[in-house]
Amino acid sequence: MPAPRHYNLGMSFLRSQSSRLTLRLARDLTRSVKRGHPWVFADALRDLPPAEPGTPAILLDNTRGRPIAVGFYDPSSGVAFRACRVEEPFRLNDEWAEARCSQAWSLRQRLFDETTTGYRLFNGEGDGLPGLVCDRYADVAVIKLDGPAASAFWDIDEIAAWLVKHTGVTAVVERRKQRGGAGRWLIGHERREPIEFLEHGVRFTADVINGQKTGFFLDQRENRQTLRPLCDGAKVLNVFSYTGGFSVMAGCGGAAHVTSVDSAEPAIAAANAHWRLNGLPEDKHTGVQADAFEFLDNARLKRRKWEVVIIDPPAFAPSQTSVNRAGSAYRKLAFNGAAVTDRGSLLALASCSSHIDEPTFLEACEEGISEARRRATVLGIHSQPADHPTPLAMPEFRYLKFVLMRVE
Ligand code: SAH
Repeated sequence: MPAPRHYNLGMSFLRSQSSRLTLRLARDLTRSVKRGHPWVFADALRDLPPAEPGTPAILLDNTRGRPIAVGFYDPSSGVAFRACRVEEPFRLNDEWAEARCSQAWSLRQRLFDETTTGYRLFNGEGDGLPGLVCDRYADVAVIKLDGPAASAFWDIDEIAAWLVKHTGVTAVVERRKQRGGAGRWLIGHERREPIEFLEHGVRFTADVINGQKTGFFLDQRENRQTLRPLCDGAKVLNVFSYTGGFSVMAGCGGAAHVTSVDSAEPAIAAANAHWRLNGLPEDKHTGVQADAFEFLDNARLKRRKWEVVIIDPPAFAPSQTSVNRAGSAYRKLAFNGAAVTDRGSLLALASCSSHIDEPTFLEACEEGISEARRRATVLGIHSQPADHPTPLAMPEFRYLKFVLMRVE
């Protein structure tokens, strides 16, 4: 890996560069922080002094009160402190921020060529940039700041200016969880049409203003590419298809026919449009707007079968309390998924719930498939791609599970 380039732009990436606030650990989490787990929960701090979300702070250990990290603070959040730097100097300044941004950018330059122009540029904690996420679709960057502390800590306008100067994007959009989640143009002319980009040479578009996430599920890119050649000549079912990522990849891989199922009408319309955009024959794709559970129940009762079945649902367990309910939803999908998969054919089941770990998910798959009186052979267990890096010490950031099986 080449050394990150340092830029001296005289910019201010951070809204505040002073860090006079100190926080003291109540428990011995020093090892965890030093090993690279950047989160400290509120109950692990000795006290929660009043301060604005996003205030820079120094974290002291619980024994001798020595500084172990510098980061930013949010007394109103469960994650009260996010570490940015766990080595001397415990200072947050533009040099630090720019070095992290350019290191993230140099990784993406090594990962992608001109056949893939949609990817994640900054993956928050995984790029050492807590709370700062940015996806790129060709010449448009979409920034998402994770919560009020990150929004107050990072200076989004300066980051947008850096992106334009260094990465070749010409427009920058901000997406927020607040304000209904819709985006706004920070830099560049407002465009009404979705933004076109390439994924392994295949044409897609992203609705960067109103689409889910930042407009596309970039995290499944390599899993779509894995399935592509396996769809040659096959009848394919893509459940929870969104805008047809897996469907179009299957079509480009030579699928005989693809059915896309999603409850959202705009998603199905976009899947149809993406199919046409790649010059695939219209009679080989059927977009169905339906509830996925009902569609699968009906298909099972009618004994319909496909040769490749992909089931990539939304996060059923966004919190710890929903884990049990999520487990039974995954079991149900595995049950129906196996039932509609032809013997000796392929079934891919995915989970993007960070609260369901891989063993728990595999167990749900096993239970569902055996309830359908079928058995499966695992061909691969995949996760998120290299443009979604995660700290080794932070397993909960590796949220994506993608299990590819042959069902006997
Ligand atoms: N596989 C997709 C991403 C799927 S995201 C890709 O590669 O791009 C999950 C999708 O599930 C969303 O598009 C959402 O509209 C859809 N969805 C959520 N609940 C649903 C339900 N009960 N039935 C059908 N679709 C549903």
